Amino acid sequence: MEEFPHSLLRSETPSVTPALAGPRHRFGTTSARGPRNAQCRERGDPCSRPARRGLMHIHKTSSAQSSCRLATEALSGGWRRACLLPRGVYARRGQPAAGAMAGSAASRLRVLVDMDGVLADFEGGVLRAFLARYPGEPHVELAERRGFSVREQYRRLREDLGAKVASVYESPGFFLGLEPIPGAIEAMQEMIHMQDTEVFICTSPLLKYEHCILEKYSWVEKHLGPEFVERLILTRDKTIVSADLLFDDKDTIKGAEPKPSWEHILFTCCHNKHLELQTPRRRLQSWADDWRGIVESKRRSDAEKECYASLIANGNGQVGNWQRNPI
Ligand SMILES: [Mg+2]
Repeated sequence: MEEFPHSLLRSETPSVTPALAGPRHRFGTTSARGPRNAQCRERGDPCSRPARRGLMHIHKTSSAQSSCRLATEALSGGWRRACLLPRGVYARRGQPAAGAMAGSAASRLRVLVDMDGVLADFEGGVLRAFLARYPGEPHVELAERRGFSVREQYRRLREDLGAKVASVYESPGFFLGLEPIPGAIEAMQEMIHMQDTEVFICTSPLLKYEHCILEKYSWVEKHLGPEFVERLILTRDKTIVSADLLFDDKDTIKGAEPKPSWEHILFTCCHNKHLELQTPRRRLQSWADDWRGIVESKRRSDAEKECYASLIANGNGQVGNWQRNPI
């Protein structure tokens, strides 16, 4: 059997935190350096060799199902996927499982973040501008907002109010003048620097787009900086954009693709906070909520799916180019 290249076996980071533990995920993470490592040395397992110190050793298991071990670690700045491991396979930490994940962009989690209602305070901006332009007209307080379309709710209040509220958000300067949602800028700046994470802003422009599109670009540059201008996706159909997660305040997102690749995380906004989500749909209450936990749970979930898909694709427990441990 071909020797596993030792250049791939050296750990670059001495500390490891196990991401998953418990009966379903008895991954060979830190335990490999603890008592079980001693057991390995007794058995003469290769993990005791100096060149392999610092690597995760995935121990043999008896059941075929549990032979697949996906180790995900938390390293500084974020989670890293370590490896897809049938029994006794070693992986260098911080590396995607070569071969096991070949041909996929599995090592990076792609996150889409909506703009209006998630990054920019569209609802607050509409109400302020409406009160300023039509001070004597009836209006809808934010606490009374129901349904994604503000125009539709104003129209139900009185037929002509729909057009009046639309004239507010179709006016020049409206989108550029929106205030950021609390915590949004900080979250985006953190997310863009997360390990193995791609973040894009994905927003739907108005059909009456004269001012909206230019001002969305200007808003992003003003509040998030030029690096996010390159990460701005404008589309009327988000279902055709490929990603792992979509944070969006619209409760139902439909389009040409009936099964979008992303999981929709409903971002709480005044118009959707009363909705009860069906399991397994998830909600982010605000940017003070645990968005990092959602990102990392999705990363682990995707990694598990890739792990099992790869096992099935390769058959018989062989995983791509990775060598089986001869033990
Ligand atoms: Mg929105």
